[in-house]
Amino acid sequence: MSGDKDCKCGTLYVVATPIGNLEDITLRAVRILGEVDLIAAEDTRHTRKLLSHLSISKPLVSYYKDRESSRSEKIIEELLSGRNVALVSDAGTPAISDPGAILVSHCHEKSIPVIAVPGPSALTAALSVAGLTLSSFIFLGFLPSKKSQRMKTLIAHVQDEPALVFYESPRRVSNTLAECREVFGERKVFIGRELTKIYEELLTGTLSEVLRVLVEKSQIKGEFVVIVFPDQKSNPAAPEDIEELLCWYKDNSDLSMKDSVKKIARDLNLSRSLVYEKALYVWAKK
Ligand code: SAM
Repeated sequence: MSGDKDCKCGTLYVVATPIGNLEDITLRAVRILGEVDLIAAEDTRHTRKLLSHLSISKPLVSYYKDRESSRSEKIIEELLSGRNVALVSDAGTPAISDPGAILVSHCHEKSIPVIAVPGPSALTAALSVAGLTLSSFIFLGFLPSKKSQRMKTLIAHVQDEPALVFYESPRRVSNTLAECREVFGERKVFIGRELTKIYEELLTGTLSEVLRVLVEKSQIKGEFVVIVFPDQKSNPAAPEDIEELLCWYKDNSDLSMKDSVKKIARDLNLSRSLVYEKALYVWAKK
């Protein structure tokens, strides 16, 4: 069990760091980085630059993807001997498409306390500016690098109602968008490029429109988050229309929440789960 109160061991702090703009670091992250005995970093050279910007000097140990298991053992020893350790990745939140999960799970197994020090992530940054009105999304991390595997992954999500979110490289982004169009047909897409950095760019439009903008660039550079919106055709009613209808049923009919959901989903040819999600919100309101 995790979080053993009698444990004399140190604590593992999982610390989020900026995804570009160095001002995006929390006061707590700065304090923790300054207080721990050791920092486990994905790339020590990279983290040293951040620490020097923050005027923090600490011993660093490298913790990178290909050596996660062996490095975890060393770090666990440090924690068991009572030292506090901060885990950071090159950018954003550790363990989100970055190393960290193995160390964290080993800590749980050994009852070593683990504390999240939340902050930036390309995932949440992109979602916050995408204008996605749905509350659900599926995060795919990086899509497979082989085209056949990538297509297989996309096909597996054709019917999904939530938006699909993934990380993408500049080298591959155009091909991936073309493949999305092949699999999903025309859909709305959002692209967050170089979020929080000087050349930050947000693009929204249909897959074809965004693809055209990218293809017209002489060179595609930077880091990307892609959000493919769900198929609009299967959800013709705007979310606010569904809420309005639900409010009407709640205030003016004898139908229960469940029966109202059933009726609206049937009448509008919508999925029950989509209407149910909104009904929970409407029924929770006074
Ligand atoms: N753990 C990190 C996080 O929480 O954001 C993600 C690490 S993953 C190895 C790196 C990928 O995240 C990049 O290839 C890119 O797709 C995305 N990414 C990171 N920083 C970004 C930024 N500033 N703008 C857009 N995408 C970014």
